[in-house]
Amino acid sequence: MIAPVTAAPPAPPRSGKKPDAPIAVIGGGLGGLAAAATLAARGYRVTLFDKNPWLGGKAAVYEDVGYRFDMGPTILTLPTVLKRIFAEAGKDLADYCEIVPLDPQWRCFFDEAAGGGVLDLTADQAAMKRNLDEFTGAEDSSEGYAAFLKYAKRLNDVSDRFFFYKNVGGIRDTLKLGGMFSLETLGDLRALKMGKSVADTVRGYVPDSRVAQMVDHYTQYVGSAPDQSPAVLCGIADMQTTGGVWYPIGGTRAVPEALIKLGKELGVEYRPGTHVTEITREKGRVTGLKTADGQTHRFAAVVSNSDTVRTHRELLDGPAAEKFLKKDREPACSGVVLYLGLKKKYDHILHHNFVFSRNPHEEFEYIYRKGEPAPDPTAYVCAPAVTEPAVAPQGGEALYVLVHTPYLRPGQDWRAMFPEYRRTILEKLKTTAGMEDLEDRIAVEHHLTPQDIHDRYHVLNGAIYGLASHGTYLGAFKPANRSPQVPGLYFAGGSAHPGPGMPMVMMSGWTAADTLDRDGVLDA
Ligand SMILES: Cc1cc2nc3c(=O)[nH]c(=O)nc-3n(C[C@H](O)[C@H](O)[C@H](O)COP(=O)(O)OP(=O)(O)OC[C@H]3O[C@@H](n4cnc5c(N)ncnc54)[C@H](O)[C@@H]3O)c2cc1C
Repeated sequence: MIAPVTAAPPAPPRSGKKPDAPIAVIGGGLGGLAAAATLAARGYRVTLFDKNPWLGGKAAVYEDVGYRFDMGPTILTLPTVLKRIFAEAGKDLADYCEIVPLDPQWRCFFDEAAGGGVLDLTADQAAMKRNLDEFTGAEDSSEGYAAFLKYAKRLNDVSDRFFFYKNVGGIRDTLKLGGMFSLETLGDLRALKMGKSVADTVRGYVPDSRVAQMVDHYTQYVGSAPDQSPAVLCGIADMQTTGGVWYPIGGTRAVPEALIKLGKELGVEYRPGTHVTEITREKGRVTGLKTADGQTHRFAAVVSNSDTVRTHRELLDGPAAEKFLKKDREPACSGVVLYLGLKKKYDHILHHNFVFSRNPHEEFEYIYRKGEPAPDPTAYVCAPAVTEPAVAPQGGEALYVLVHTPYLRPGQDWRAMFPEYRRTILEKLKTTAGMEDLEDRIAVEHHLTPQDIHDRYHVLNGAIYGLASHGTYLGAFKPANRSPQVPGLYFAGGSAHPGPGMPMVMMSGWTAADTLDRDGVLDA
């Protein structure tokens, strides 16, 4: 059984300082939409600008002759975050968007070279134990997995207290929240296993290499290598197991649609198709922004949902920008997506599937260190018709295939690289996931490359998930939601705290809005 979704915590009281001041949000990704709705719910007059003609950023949709594809995110976890944003306005998410739980959560196909086999990841722990015992032919992996989940829960508790819904930009902020020398904080710090990677931690619990490959794949939710990411990210396993995997009826696109509707009801003014070119300042403090049509708009504060590095590079200048840009910030991975409208769906796959590489070490070496596409990648396959047949003509499937690639490196021309990599991906699906006749089933085809991701979403080097979480000590920390350099500037989105993925960017939007509200603003 999937654990019930806990009620969203109550909204904190308003600060009472100029809550009707005009605020701008740059970018209508999920983080920007969440920030806009939260600020509007607290009484601010919000205008949201996005350079694209659509809102939702990466949570976009593509439709073609009866097929409907979510173009970006497809796995929704932690819906409590979304509920909390609706609760800000005294609204119930269920009135805006229907979400249904999916269990098993993933079906995993393993390469023959790695031992082969198919394993379903399910939230129910008794069922998972049976699956693991049958799959591995022993009990040590299921015992190790159960112990790992307990550890993941402990990490999640620590994150809840020190990391989530709080403006945090580094270890000092978390220590301030915990009280520097309390014994409890020291115990929490020990639990973080600082210096140890996710990959090492997982293998300390789970002896079967295929099960370990599955478990450490959670770091792909943040586009980072398991052997370079801090152990605290093992907490993602608990978020998914206890919080569940959910599908919004209408596709992931239903999430931004719901947030846009909420924002409209709260008075948010949306300005799609409007590129912001500068954040204006007087005496160092934000005064508004300039748009590509040359107009200047005055605002009391600005929330940037644009990538944090690009915000500093392109929208700011002077010492404030230089200070931020002095620190090396590595983009998370990018990816290639195939959108395949199939005449006939496959009956042996579930809604979410992972078709694993033969060797995770080789795969991550290519993606994260060599900076080249992996010759034998892991493919994530989404088959939404399993849950919502209306995504395709009768009996068909709107198949979505995502393979992670390195972020864009100089000289990489994906227009030239794509045809061969498409063949690599299709071959992988044929040989490891039993989709031998895949090409015969394709009626409609579209794709997205790292270059497309870069151009469409205005991200850093084509990164899907903002900044990488690399560094086994401090890799989980991202730039804080309040700019330490520029008063009146806040950040929301995958490259700001607490990081990427749908729930985290929406939490980022809420936190940016909450921090702004607590700080208080002067009128524009
Ligand atoms: C292929 C793919 C698959 C994914 N799968 C999943 C998944 O299954 N589950 C999951 O949880 N997450 C997934 N993600 C990640 C998730 O989609 C992102 O973390 C999240 O949607 C990013 O939201 P964001 O708030 O950072 O904004 P973004 O979506 O990055 O949007 C930022 C917006 O800002 C706008 N902008 C930037 N600069 C300017 C400017 N100067 N002026 C005006 N507008 C500007 C851009 O046009 C863009 O619309 C996936 C992403 C991709 C691309």
